Amino acid sequence: MLNRVDCTTSEECFDVVIVGCGVSGSTLAAYLASSGVSVLAIEKESFPRYHIGESLTGMVGKILAELGLESEMSQRQFIPKEGVKVIGRDAKSEFFVPVLRPTWQVRREEFDQMLLNKAIECGVEHRYGTVKEVLKEGDQVVGVKYIPKGEEKTIKIRAKVVADASGQSTFFSRQKVAGERRNYDTFKKQVAVFTQFKDAIRDPGAMGDNTFLFYAQLYHWAWFIPISEDTVSVGIVVPDSKMTEHGGKQEVLEWGLENINPDLKRRVENLSYGTVRTISNYSYSVDPFVGNGWLCVGDAHRFCDPIFSFGVSLGMVEAKQASIAIKKALSDHNYTHHFQEYATFCNRGQNVAQDLVLYFWQYPTFFGYQAKSTLRKDILHLLGGDIHQVEEFPAIKMMRQALNKDLSIKKI
Ligand code: FAD
Repeated sequence: MLNRVDCTTSEECFDVVIVGCGVSGSTLAAYLASSGVSVLAIEKESFPRYHIGESLTGMVGKILAELGLESEMSQRQFIPKEGVKVIGRDAKSEFFVPVLRPTWQVRREEFDQMLLNKAIECGVEHRYGTVKEVLKEGDQVVGVKYIPKGEEKTIKIRAKVVADASGQSTFFSRQKVAGERRNYDTFKKQVAVFTQFKDAIRDPGAMGDNTFLFYAQLYHWAWFIPISEDTVSVGIVVPDSKMTEHGGKQEVLEWGLENINPDLKRRVENLSYGTVRTISNYSYSVDPFVGNGWLCVGDAHRFCDPIFSFGVSLGMVEAKQASIAIKKALSDHNYTHHFQEYATFCNRGQNVAQDLVLYFWQYPTFFGYQAKSTLRKDILHLLGGDIHQVEEFPAIKMMRQALNKDLSIKKI
């Protein structure tokens, strides 16, 4: 085995360099630095920056509590979330999934800034810049080259471990450090178009602060997420053929508001909206996503349909687990073993998330029925983001059995 980076060169050296300071990168950085690991976290966008992904699971609430951020969440007046209401086709059916732990809906520009501040407070060195290249010696990753924001010169940093938390940029995959990015057959032709409304109609009382999902038909749905007292994030998800059919993102948004669900239409009718944004082809997987001196966290290696809001949750849970694997590896130098264990952990959770989404799309009516009756306990637990050790749950066994029998479902 090659020697690990010894930090005796003239170059700057850290135990860990993290590419990207979104929720995954900052959470990983905070956990590592609070245990005394030296961390450099590099971010290419100036914070605060807009990001999609505002509805959080109970699992995120648990990690925020661990990081000591619960009272700051309240001070910042993030919206406490009591659950998710799923409203069926033509608003004729609905079911409600309460959260089992305190959690919130967030304005991501502020939430991500708060997590980055936390990481810095824990001792992380944070710099703005774009990581351009991964440094390797043989198959071992030993650092990165980055360009500081506003400068032209490239800086080399050596590190014992480099973590890719670059989100949908999938930096390590593009650098051919990690495996190729493969789109999900089932979800690849989707587009999300989203914006924000002021003064949209909410339900009275605490229900008005919850996430609402509007279902129309296979791969046609919308979200309605209150993110402040007067602002709601609204997004339409449809097959990307709708873009060509309707001519552009604004047209698709307006088509969706009119046609996805009458209850959504009623809530935003005749209101003006903010900037319209869009994202497509956002469901993919990268494999392998760990190796000699490197690993990927969160969206940097996998993301699937956002209908159940697992993205931030998976990123933060994986970040915590990655910090455990990295600390063990820094101590006994058995990088391959610990990072492989981390990969197994991630795959278990990501596979459960994927199967829940696939099952919902294949059997939406049945899913709604089960969420209200036979499998309610399991489904509440799972939709709370607690999905890494649940293979024995009756709900998971039953859903997997149904999916395996259904040959029209193509997994990755
Ligand atoms: P990101 O948050 O994307 O952070 C990556 C960071 O890396 C960025 O700040 C980027 O600027 C930086 N970066 C990239 N490349 C470099 C580089 N070379 N050098 C330096 N920095 C770099 N999740 C939820 O939990 N709830 C939701 O309601 C939800 N809704 C969604 C709706 C849609 C339509 C989509 C597509 C996703 C949604 N998600 C949701 C998912 C969620 O947005 C992501 O899973 C989550 O943001 C992933 O966090 P991350 O830290 O891994 O990546």
